[in-house]
Amino acid sequence: MNTSFATTSYIVAIALFILSLSGLSQHESSRRGNLFGMIGMLLALIATAILIPIAGFGPLLIALIPGALIGAFLASRVAMTSMPELVAMLHSFVGAAAVLVGISNYLGGTHGLAASDLTVHYLEIYIGVFIGALTFTGSIIAFGKLSGKISGKPMLIPGRHLINLAMIVASVVLGVMFMSNVAGGEGLTPLLIMTAISCVIGVHLVMAIGGADMPVVVSMLNSYSGWAAAAAGFMLSNDLLIVTGALVGSSGAILSFIMCRAMNRSFISVILGGFGTGEGAAPGGGSAQPQGEVTPINVDETADLLSEAKSIIIVPGYGVAVAQAQHSLAEMVKLLRDAGVNVRFGIHPVAGRLPGHMNVLLAEANVPYDIVFEMDEINHDFPTTDVAMVIGANDIVNPAALEDPTSPIAGMPVLEVWKAKTAVVMKRSMASGYAGIDNPLFYKDNTRMLFGDAKKNVDALVAKLRELVTA
Ligand code: NDP
Repeated sequence: MNTSFATTSYIVAIALFILSLSGLSQHESSRRGNLFGMIGMLLALIATAILIPIAGFGPLLIALIPGALIGAFLASRVAMTSMPELVAMLHSFVGAAAVLVGISNYLGGTHGLAASDLTVHYLEIYIGVFIGALTFTGSIIAFGKLSGKISGKPMLIPGRHLINLAMIVASVVLGVMFMSNVAGGEGLTPLLIMTAISCVIGVHLVMAIGGADMPVVVSMLNSYSGWAAAAAGFMLSNDLLIVTGALVGSSGAILSFIMCRAMNRSFISVILGGFGTGEGAAPGGGSAQPQGEVTPINVDETADLLSEAKSIIIVPGYGVAVAQAQHSLAEMVKLLRDAGVNVRFGIHPVAGRLPGHMNVLLAEANVPYDIVFEMDEINHDFPTTDVAMVIGANDIVNPAALEDPTSPIAGMPVLEVWKAKTAVVMKRSMASGYAGIDNPLFYKDNTRMLFGDAKKNVDALVAKLRELVTA
């Protein structure tokens, strides 16, 4: 009875997870997608708990209750700007869980499996622990880089590709030793040495990736955490964990591919690290010095410019999340649209610090979906646009990506705001963005710099525009 209830619940949970993913692919259905995911996870937890013998409830509750409380506390307190770090940290937990499940499965003996199934079982353990260990340490380094605790500069050790290759070859050799020694109970040593090597591979791979390539790392670790969960599912013979892990793994892989295409990078070159940084021209994490003269503009002049414009494209970036300016921005857009101005948003695929970061912010502020456009859909409209308004964005509007082949972000498609009649850039200072490089956009003749916090400036613009519109 319990087993059939659990099996049915697992099937329903899998269907809900698939509906959740498809819901999350559209703005309009994203809230519903989230809800499906939450219900699916609750169902999965209940069904799994039912399968556990009553005697196992005590340890389960000891793990579950503090885990749920800590998770709820952290998630409710996390600032929107810290979300990427939180996600990276959560990926590391999945990796650690896969390692622990693998090692305890190995120590747990043969589980009564037939000799023919044992080979597959031990192979699952070995591969699961390898992916888990790499995901664990790689995600911790990603957490450090995203939170600024570790420098964003790529760490390019001489001969790093050879070092990686040597570590992978060593892991394969240890795998052969593991498989040939498990029967005699001697597999633990190669398993533990491989775990240590895989941890080093995780650190080394992510340390070598710098600046603008971090989005791919985040989605790649997301994918790895899915495969680690799927591997744990195989070890535990849990179908739900296998399917869920595969869903996360494959959707993360597709996202990584989309991110690479958006940045005009090859997947392999990003994984191997250091791409586009050249030797000695590594991104510096916000440290580049300004290279020219800029033309400042104040709030009143900007409000005049906006109220006289017929068409405006707003390009939001990470600074909107920092300033939490999305609600003020939505108010400004409404005022301008009510006054008959054609206002649209241009969203770069790697804007902010998480895939879809800007879409989430704009959806939170109830900005209408039909005025939010992807980069490819809107980039050709800048030459016929009166004002391009860049708010808290930097790398994603940097013309050096197209004009300077030696730039660390060379080849990355960017929103070509400088082609508009006037480009207004709203930011607090001349500081560089995540990739740590100077931005020639700021020195162009048709660019105006509106310095200050994005929320304060947009609030001031709203007040001034209201005067102008009602005058
Ligand atoms: P950037 O980091 O390039 O630029 C953000 C700009 O916002 C900064 O130059 C900063 O300038 C300004 N800013 C910060 N706070 C405020 C504020 N309160 N008010 C006004 N301005 C503010 O962000 P972009 O969105 O342009 O580009 C994203 C970058 O992050 C890319 O390099 C991308 O590769 C990387 N990345 C993206 C991830 C993703 O998944 N989307 C993940 C990891 C990295 P100032 O200090 O002068 O105000």
